[in-house]
Amino acid sequence: MVDVEPGQPPPSVLVVEDEPAIADLIRTYLERERFAVRVVGDGVTALDAVRRGRPSVVVLDVGLPGMDGSEVCRRMRQDGDWTPVLFVTARDDEVDRVLGLELGADDYVTKPFSPRELVARVKAVLRRHGHAPDAAPAAAGDGPTLRAGAVVLDADTRRATAHGTAVDLTTTEFDLLAHLMRRPGRVFPREELLADVWGYPAGTPTRTVDVHVAQLRAKLADAVEVRTVRGVGYSVEP
Ligand code: CA
Repeated sequence: MVDVEPGQPPPSVLVVEDEPAIADLIRTYLERERFAVRVVGDGVTALDAVRRGRPSVVVLDVGLPGMDGSEVCRRMRQDGDWTPVLFVTARDDEVDRVLGLELGADDYVTKPFSPRELVARVKAVLRRHGHAPDAAPAAAGDGPTLRAGAVVLDADTRRATAHGTAVDLTTTEFDLLAHLMRRPGRVFPREELLADVWGYPAGTPTRTVDVHVAQLRAKLADAVEVRTVRGVGYSVEP
């Protein structure tokens, strides 16, 4: 069940999916968890629904008729709308394409997915964006400023700089890097990162950690070294 503060409306989910059977399945599972769900079947309607409805999160199919999901997300970002987006992709190569576009995708699931998994991802995205009471940012004592190499993260303002120049990181990229930088040199297993940064249960099959590390490396270049420990996970060099 989704956590709702007394007197507050439940988080709303806009589901953009053109296949009615899949849309119905997603709706059923989300409504069971007391989310307010709206389903639309194409990109133009989706953009309108985002502007008017201000959903808490958008579950966005990539393969839509006409304007595809990545274009919907691109236009949202162009409008300055950073509503979290969970992409639904049909193929693995779509994952790289969508995440590579740097649209600020918060996560993705690949079809066929289990509805339970999708619901868990929606909750995790909302948690990361501070919609749930247990959305605990950095614990007291962690200090608001983290440094490694030439990268500085300010946990209060959520600003990142590399060699003194501001770098735009998505929420997830920032959270992942901050997590690694809190304990420089320590190797974080993928499973642990999935649990602590994404809030996923152990065994969730996803390449999302690797994809996000690749994005961080692309954005930060030589400012900080995110080291791959083969077969285990990642660490940030002090
Ligand atoms: Ca589709």
